[in-house]
Amino acid sequence: MVRNKRLGSVLAATLGLLCCFGCASGRRTLADSQTERAEQWRGVHFFSPGKQGLPLLQRAIVEELAPIGVNTVILEVNYGFEFQSHPELRWEGAVSDSPDEGAISKAEARELAALCRKHGIRLIPQFNCLGHQSWRKTLFPLLAQYPEMDETPHIAADDPDVYCRSWCPLHPDVNPIVFDLMDELIDAFQADAFHVGMDEVFYIADDQCPRCKGKDPAQLFAKAVNDYHRHLVGEKRLTMLMWGDRLLDAEAMGYSKWEASANSTAPAVDLIPRDIIICDWHYGRREEYPSVPYFLDKGFRVWPASWKNAEAAQALLEYSRRYATPRLMGHLCTTWYGPAVPPAILGEAADGKLNPEAVKAAETIHTCMRLLTGAR
Ligand SMILES: [Zn+2]
Repeated sequence: MVRNKRLGSVLAATLGLLCCFGCASGRRTLADSQTERAEQWRGVHFFSPGKQGLPLLQRAIVEELAPIGVNTVILEVNYGFEFQSHPELRWEGAVSDSPDEGAISKAEARELAALCRKHGIRLIPQFNCLGHQSWRKTLFPLLAQYPEMDETPHIAADDPDVYCRSWCPLHPDVNPIVFDLMDELIDAFQADAFHVGMDEVFYIADDQCPRCKGKDPAQLFAKAVNDYHRHLVGEKRLTMLMWGDRLLDAEAMGYSKWEASANSTAPAVDLIPRDIIICDWHYGRREEYPSVPYFLDKGFRVWPASWKNAEAAQALLEYSRRYATPRLMGHLCTTWYGPAVPPAILGEAADGKLNPEAVKAAETIHTCMRLLTGAR
């Protein structure tokens, strides 16, 4: 998968399209065959550290991650890019809470992607779609610039109960803008795969949205997934990835309302293409992670994802292996502390103090890569 990436992605997208919607449980598909020939995806997910954080991210990748076997990096860029098509949507801070990190440029994206390729790493950009359009009272650029696209504009910006806002999936002006942003990121990172986020969408089918009121949340969620799939896979011939939580019924699975859905979106799982790679994230230690065989049985490729609890990550990784098929993609380590993560991976802090939670995430990466590669 890492070698011949461009050709591989075209093949993957083409083969994936052929088996959309039709993959019966347990039946081998063309996408299976394609995946079977590929090696495991040993991944790390980063928030973009911003312009100022790029040098340390590059060093972390080259000096620490590539040598321990990481072959895929998800870079969650969101609005932290010098968009040309919509300069009003540039976010000059880092994607996390750290201020003044700066949007990265196309040239910087190209450089990072080339560096990853040189070290055998596939770089996949991420742009959070639908949900996660605000954080801690801060509206992200789309809803700040275009408040009419907010699914819940009637909720005050400083409402302490808001976790993060959504855009309205039926607003007619959203997708043309979002596709422009996706296309810029795809071009800048020369990407052959794209992660659309879509986790933790809590606001959907709001009863005060004039377009969505009374509609089925699962239908709305699936429409959004299918819209992005049509653009990314159908038109751009990329592989599409998304988080899996909204496709899981929290009650049926015994998961929390964060890592699974308690807001009626779960039936969307049967309304979306099977060639999407589902990033099935679970951060706590459990005896069982029933979503892994569930998604596999549905015919998806599944990429289990962990965070900073090494024991939990090991439990998820080893549980997933019980269901190993060519569609079980390996393992994805998330990190979630933005610019604090590369220093933690490198063991270097400018002020002599590392973020202890980022250090745990870095240690968990090592644990997972040892398990995946068999290294001691
Ligand atoms: Zn709406």
